[in-house]
Amino acid sequence: MATIDITKLRKEFGDEGEQIVAVEDLDLTIEDGEFMVFVGPSGCGKTTTLRCVAGLEDVSSGSIEFDGVDVTDQRARERNVAMVFQNYALYPHMTVRKNIGFPLRLSTKQSSDEIDERVEEIATLLGIESLLDDKPKELSGGQQQRVALGRAIIRDPEVFLMDEPLSNLDAKLRSVMRTELQELQQELDVTTAYVTHDQVEAMAMGDRIAILNEGRLQQVGDANEVYRSPTNEFVAGFIGSPSINLVTAEVDGDTLVGPGNFEYVLDDVSWVDGRSRVRVGVRPEDMHLVEDGAGSMPSEVTVVEHMGNENFLYARMGEVDLTARVPSKMRPPEGSRVRFDFDEEDLYLFDVDTQESVK
Ligand code: ATP
Repeated sequence: MATIDITKLRKEFGDEGEQIVAVEDLDLTIEDGEFMVFVGPSGCGKTTTLRCVAGLEDVSSGSIEFDGVDVTDQRARERNVAMVFQNYALYPHMTVRKNIGFPLRLSTKQSSDEIDERVEEIATLLGIESLLDDKPKELSGGQQQRVALGRAIIRDPEVFLMDEPLSNLDAKLRSVMRTELQELQQELDVTTAYVTHDQVEAMAMGDRIAILNEGRLQQVGDANEVYRSPTNEFVAGFIGSPSINLVTAEVDGDTLVGPGNFEYVLDDVSWVDGRSRVRVGVRPEDMHLVEDGAGSMPSEVTVVEHMGNENFLYARMGEVDLTARVPSKMRPPEGSRVRFDFDEEDLYLFDVDTQESVK
């Protein structure tokens, strides 16, 4: 087990002139035994960060420490890490037994009996003991993924690094494997860094979530923190499905005035601080459909999606598209005029220029 300290990490690719900065100024500590998920849009630097921690990429500057020991210049095989990737990279000609035992046969002086015993222990832990004599092509995707996990954990690594390990599985199996992976990680208590582009997976799995954008760390926190207290507009927009509604409003005394006759009277104006405009965010589930014309967001319904347990309403307010999650009984006809309202405590407010949260 290990605490991972990443300090001022920078990684650039390419020559002078045509440089890509994949990761910039990244400071992050992953605590001993923690499950840290890196999430962000394509190209934000998640995989590069993981590969730097693994020792598969040289860093451009900055340092990486495991339990206070600087490993920045150590090669991958000198670091006690195990990696699991999206493609399981099993050896096709070897049985499951041989695949799982491979790292031990390569790296230790244990006898084959000892290795076999350990392989069986691991296979039992993963529920694949009956498959030990099969070849990878005889296994389902989920079974292959378990073998890949087995091969990763057999050496008792200090650190687990996983890059989209579930993305080749269908939706149902993915959610089963999510739970299994979390249970396994808790049981083994190994510090884990996990990369995904899927914010739902990130929220479900991570003890904490590190959100990256354009090579920069935006926020680190547990699911509740990043959802309820996003530090900036990017995080607010990235976390949550459907996405948060965002409009630009003028600040007129204690009233927000926005597109399509949007008007909202505030109790708390302590954040205004001389601002004449602000970005206003409301989550779809915080939008209340009000029938009596009292609401602050007059809109026209464009599409109603029936989800069974609830409806997604898509509406236009002036030039702005809105999304609301409402109870399944509420089905205003498409094209009808409706109004939405929300509680002030559910407002997210961001500076128009810096995009940082102001509340
Ligand atoms: P994805 O989810 O699409 O895999 P990511 O967040 O993992 O994205 P990275 O793969 O870390 O992103 O890439 C970050 C940036 O660095 C991208 O602009 C990418 O094109 C660039 N990059 C990554 N690896 C290399 C490389 N070996 N050579 C040149 N550029 C690279």
